[in-house]
Amino acid sequence: MEIIRLRGLGVSPGIAMGEASLSERVVFTSRREPISEGQVEDELKRLRRALDRTRQELTELKEHVRERVGDEQAFIFDAHLMMLDDQMLLTSLEKVIVEEKVRSEWAISRVNSHFQNLFDSLTDEYFQQRKTDLSDVLARIYRNLERKRDRKEESDKPAVLVAHELLPSEVAINISRRKIIGIALDMGGQTSHTAILARSLGIPAVVGLHDISLQVKNGDFIIVDGTDGEVIVNPTPAVRREFQSKRERYEAYQRELKKIARLKPETLDGVRFTPLANIELPEEVEVAFSYGAEGIGLFRSEFIYLQRPSLPSEEDHLAVYEKMARSTHPRPVYIRTIDIGGEKSLPQLNIEKEPNPALGLRAIRFSLRNRELFRTQIRAILKASVRKNVRLMVPMITEVEEVVELKRIIAGLKAELRSQKIPFDEDIPVGVMIEVPAAAALIHSIIQEVDYVSIGTNDLIQYYLAVDRGNELVSYLFKPHHPAVLQLLQRVIKTANENGKEVTVCGEMAADPLSAIILLGLGLRTFSMNPIFIPRVKKALRAIELKTAEAAVAEALQLKTAKEIEEFMIEAILQKHPEAFLMSQIVSSSV
Ligand code: PEP
Ligand code: MG
Repeated sequence: MEIIRLRGLGVSPGIAMGEASLSERVVFTSRREPISEGQVEDELKRLRRALDRTRQELTELKEHVRERVGDEQAFIFDAHLMMLDDQMLLTSLEKVIVEEKVRSEWAISRVNSHFQNLFDSLTDEYFQQRKTDLSDVLARIYRNLERKRDRKEESDKPAVLVAHELLPSEVAINISRRKIIGIALDMGGQTSHTAILARSLGIPAVVGLHDISLQVKNGDFIIVDGTDGEVIVNPTPAVRREFQSKRERYEAYQRELKKIARLKPETLDGVRFTPLANIELPEEVEVAFSYGAEGIGLFRSEFIYLQRPSLPSEEDHLAVYEKMARSTHPRPVYIRTIDIGGEKSLPQLNIEKEPNPALGLRAIRFSLRNRELFRTQIRAILKASVRKNVRLMVPMITEVEEVVELKRIIAGLKAELRSQKIPFDEDIPVGVMIEVPAAAALIHSIIQEVDYVSIGTNDLIQYYLAVDRGNELVSYLFKPHHPAVLQLLQRVIKTANENGKEVTVCGEMAADPLSAIILLGLGLRTFSMNPIFIPRVKKALRAIELKTAEAAVAEALQLKTAKEIEEFMIEAILQKHPEAFLMSQIVSSSV
């Protein structure tokens, strides 16, 4: 058997080894099978039976997924059930059977092509998504025209799921069907929903493999290395052994991480710091805590909008926040209002494409323009705050007027809730993200208006240095240790501290050990990051004395370039606390 090695993007770390299972996709028939007049009635009954089976299957799947993964992933099945029960769909299918006197297979195939063509003519993303959903539903009906095969047997065997592309619903469906130990996809990126879901479930995953779904057959032995982004099909015994030992090292490393996760977050000289987690799905809370998070420092709420066909209601929001607040309590959860608009468009709203999305109608700008959506979200956040562990956070503030307007909206909603006798936390902390350079420059004014600030270094650096780090041509300029950036950060952190207000960093910079030491030296005590990086940051900060960091940073700020700053800092820290960067070494040598 030929060995195939493919490189992709590792989006969920770890190593999985096992049998490949190709995600099933139905191919609709191209054969138009005629029936006689007398058979039409039976054919219609056959179609309705398939619809009933499909309805039952979807309802069961929804329950199954709800139990295994949570409510949010189960929503997708509501959309599918709604489509299934849409009278127009049934009428279209029956019409083909009756008028053309054909088998249901052909009717489904016809109706599918009709809608695919119709949706294709509409370029809107919303309809593109609906197109796939409708195909999903029709494929399910198609399969159910024949009595269901018993899938029990295959479901007990662990498998590596291989597919061209996976919709969140397909991930949910597949993991509910059989034990999935790894995922390998032709398509996909770091932030796709599938990637996030794989990470939160601890399933190693590699995406962007181009044509793996064509190269692999069901039952092939396959290795998925989610740490280094590699997939090997039909490995030789020597390669298998190599990866077995790599897996053992990875597992040992994971055990080491979990051990560090339980240690106290304080520096060598006893200064406390707080590691928090950035998450995007409520299911990630448990994983975050297992890595030592002391709360959720950034909950990106966008998925609530992106996951359903219609706009979320207050109840939809509340169900998610309630769950988050409950599972996080007594630790805090910072719920960020949507950062949508610009390139992250909201399918339900048909937003026009903007010429320069990064500088466009994003985040708070979008929210203030779509007041009712904003009010709905804030009302739900307020309602979820009864346990007093919820904090409200708003992205992309540019000027004080936005903060004043935000506070006016919150005050209005609080008064409404009071008069309706609906309980909420009267003292809910309200904070803003500092990620537009102007807001950083204006920190002395903004800080007076809020309870805390959270620095979003991803955007702050992008806007301050005018660099799109996703653009290969200029990404080398994206330098968190650029002296201008560090000076700006120093100013924000210092001003917040002097005003007795909490300041956190929730950009990726907080996850890098050297950056974290610099930020500590600048006066930061709260670090929010992707949970998997908490142990390495904790290890670095536990290994140093605050005064070493402070003294080194003070000197480093006098230097002219990022390179000089980095070299100086590493040298200064290594001299006194050589173990501070040990974790980075563990990461590169054993994973
Ligand atoms: C940031 O900009 O640093 C941030 C945390 O926000 P996001 O990555 O969600 O834009
Ligand atoms: Mg941001």
